[in-house]
Amino acid sequence: MSRYQSVFKDETKLDINYIPHRLPHRDKELRLLMEFFSFMLQFPEKMAQRVLITGDIGTGKTVLAQRFGAEITREASKRSISIRYVHVNCREYRGSLLLILQHIVSDFHPNFPKRGYSAEELLRNLIQMLDEEKAYVILTLDEFDSLIEREGSDAVYKLTRMQEGRQNKPQRLSLICILRSLGSIAHLDESTRSTLQSNIINLKKYSKEQLTDILNDRVAVAFKPSTVPEDTVDLTAEIAYSENGNARFGIELLWRAGKYSDAEDLSSVAPECVRQAFSSIIAIVRKSDLASLNFHAKLFLLGMTRIFKESQKANASLVEAEKAYAIVCEEFSVRPNSHTQLWKYLQDLSTTGILKTEVPGTGSRGRSTLIYFQVSTEELGNELKTVLEKGGA
Ligand code: ADP
Ligand code: MG
Repeated sequence: MSRYQSVFKDETKLDINYIPHRLPHRDKELRLLMEFFSFMLQFPEKMAQRVLITGDIGTGKTVLAQRFGAEITREASKRSISIRYVHVNCREYRGSLLLILQHIVSDFHPNFPKRGYSAEELLRNLIQMLDEEKAYVILTLDEFDSLIEREGSDAVYKLTRMQEGRQNKPQRLSLICILRSLGSIAHLDESTRSTLQSNIINLKKYSKEQLTDILNDRVAVAFKPSTVPEDTVDLTAEIAYSENGNARFGIELLWRAGKYSDAEDLSSVAPECVRQAFSSIIAIVRKSDLASLNFHAKLFLLGMTRIFKESQKANASLVEAEKAYAIVCEEFSVRPNSHTQLWKYLQDLSTTGILKTEVPGTGSRGRSTLIYFQVSTEELGNELKTVLEKGGA
């Protein structure tokens, strides 16, 4: 019988999509957000609200908005007001207002034909649907920067003008825009900026103590009792603090540390597990390394990460890697580079600490070369996708 027993009680509580019931050190901001919308709970038809949330990565922007969404819809339903909270990550829709609106409309009316409408028409349809249902929407545009990058002032103009043209009719659409810093909207035209900037909530980076509280909350719901010593939480908080007060980093580090602990069949998560986990992701965190890679090296790498998605193997052969790369090239509609070129990329990549290569037997530059990843291929894949979508050619 295996001695193997996991330290985890419920890993999903460490997932990025999990929305905790309590947000330590963000209650003030949550209350402020509720304040901004309190008018809407009383006289929903009278006013559409606009709020900006700013803050660095991992300061809790997304989770704050989502927590708020859950609370406001609960409050609204107590009062029999139909408020829908819709959270959209603009980057997932490549910053396109049209794609975002298509998504929202089909969320409301799954049978609505998506194609053949302009953004304005979709918006008008959406408002009409809301009129019919006497419903209100609070739309959160997360990673708003990517919408601005692609569409400029226009998107905001469309989203807000629709309301203004309806003076005597109920206001249906409120906006929460989430972005890293105000810098990305600095170049928008004056009137668009002033439309947006009336209510700003800025999330400061967390202190070590605050991170400790956040981590302790997660430990209680994700791990079995007494499996995570105080020292471990302390070290995790310390590292997350030095990584810019990034709560996401801390939570992920804790999860990885738990994985290391399980792999070594330990009964609790020792600080050493945190250190091991940290060294394993450090390469990923240096995202600048990825961004600076040649375009085809990125595609090559993306192809390789997919091999490990489909199999539990420890390594992949160069042949497999080249096949996977060819498929990626097809997706990106580019012609694949030659074997020799790929071989060079592989050598470069093996100096970054992302992967290691091993040539069994005679050591020719052969296709029997084996590739081992030293970092999580899942994360690497996600990161590469982001970098490539940003147009990292
Ligand atoms: P951002 O959107 O600012 O990059 P997120 O909202 O995604 O940050 O937060 C990162 C991670 O940290 C998420 O897993 C989130 O649940 C968690 N988190 C952030 N702030 C808190 C908090 N105050 N309490 C509990 N968990 C938090
Ligand atoms: Mg976020």
